[in-house]
Amino acid sequence: LWDVWSGICPDPNLILRLAPESFIVDPNPPAKLMDRRSKSIGPSLSISYAEKLKVVRGEGPWLIDHTGRKYLDAVNNITHVGHCHPKVVEAIARQAAVLNTNTRYLNDLMLDFSDRLTAKLPGDLKVAYFVNSGTEANELALRIARTAIGKKSTVVLDWAYHGNSGGMVDISPYKFKRKGGYPQPDFVEIAEFPDPYRGPHKGMSEASGRAYAADVARCLDAVEAKTGSGAAAFIAESISGVGGQVVYPDGYLKAAYDHVRARGGVCIADEVQCGFGRVGSTFWGFELQGVVPDIVVMGKPIGNGHPLGAVVATPELAACFANGMEYFNSFGGNPVSMAVGLAVLDIIDGEGLQAKALETGDYMLARFEEMADRHPLVGDVRGRGLFSGIELVRDRTTREPATEEAGRIVNHIRQQGVLASTDGPLDNVLKFKPPMVFGRAEADILITALEAALAEVGA
Ligand code: PLP
Repeated sequence: LWDVWSGICPDPNLILRLAPESFIVDPNPPAKLMDRRSKSIGPSLSISYAEKLKVVRGEGPWLIDHTGRKYLDAVNNITHVGHCHPKVVEAIARQAAVLNTNTRYLNDLMLDFSDRLTAKLPGDLKVAYFVNSGTEANELALRIARTAIGKKSTVVLDWAYHGNSGGMVDISPYKFKRKGGYPQPDFVEIAEFPDPYRGPHKGMSEASGRAYAADVARCLDAVEAKTGSGAAAFIAESISGVGGQVVYPDGYLKAAYDHVRARGGVCIADEVQCGFGRVGSTFWGFELQGVVPDIVVMGKPIGNGHPLGAVVATPELAACFANGMEYFNSFGGNPVSMAVGLAVLDIIDGEGLQAKALETGDYMLARFEEMADRHPLVGDVRGRGLFSGIELVRDRTTREPATEEAGRIVNHIRQQGVLASTDGPLDNVLKFKPPMVFGRAEADILITALEAALAEVGA
């Protein structure tokens, strides 16, 4: 264990995988260990490597570990309708007993799901492709965009994460800029991160959407100059996830999209984290910003834990995509996945989960704001619906990040039976993305645990 903390093993997860039972985990590592760990593996890594929870069952917003202890899941962003929802379980069993095959053949479920998904989207977003993860979906979206514009140049937001394949790491500053990463590829430009709490950035004097979008224009110039390309794909989440749960200033994406489209570029919305009703007031994150993307990427909640991802593009872009008619993916669009996707949409609509996300989310944000009055560690509270974050600082004036404190708070609430995590470039943002079945009763459990942790860690 000491070797892991002190950084001698480059990948603590590897050790856990090789010999998980040989670890004696100290649930309360002394501060000295935590310091060594954050220095040795970098401030942006989650602090909970060697304490990885071993879970055996899920029920609604709860996860149960191998000792039978129940944990309230306040962060698992893949199960919008709750762990092991009976209707999802039933859909898997029913379809698995009848047919599962690949995209060599059409199946009715694929056609139905495609209709249901595209009916949820605005504008001309009508052509759906099915894959198995968010990474694959982003890969395909970029491939469609690049084929259509005939260029590889891509503008991304700082600290964005779009997946873990080689191609996605290339466009994910969160990955390639970190320790163990590599130089920024020359076909990628990074636009300054639009963060109202930590901005303004690089000479931008106002925190309006338009001011931030000027940086996207600068990146379009830069990527064009470097690659000789006349157009670029622009890919962005609609609320920044690993960038720290940052809600962009109003009008930001609209102004950024205008810049990109004026150069003939394609706008891609990565809705892997913020789609499917989580933000509460709208079904898609991009609707918060009043934009209609050219391509929408979906993952995580679309299958509620079952591996599924999707890309929806306009017919115009799909027509440019050389392999469009023959797009083949061994498991993408398989009938079991499609049955799951349909069940998830039925549940979100049938159980009013989007409205619930708004109600519970607003309640949580209001309670977090109240905590700011009592706990000086709370620097900023932000989010929409059940997609929220609390940025912790040691000093509200200098905004010095409280990174170590954030890690201790995650540990503290876990000891009280609540699961959360940290994010952001400074790893000082507590993030909350519970299943959308989270109600006030669950929110109160989280808030009570958080109050106790803030009181102890902030003392
Ligand atoms: N895009 C975003 C915004 C994500 O947060 C993630 C995963 O965390 C991905 C893409 C990749 O999805 P997956 O892990 O399903 O490949």
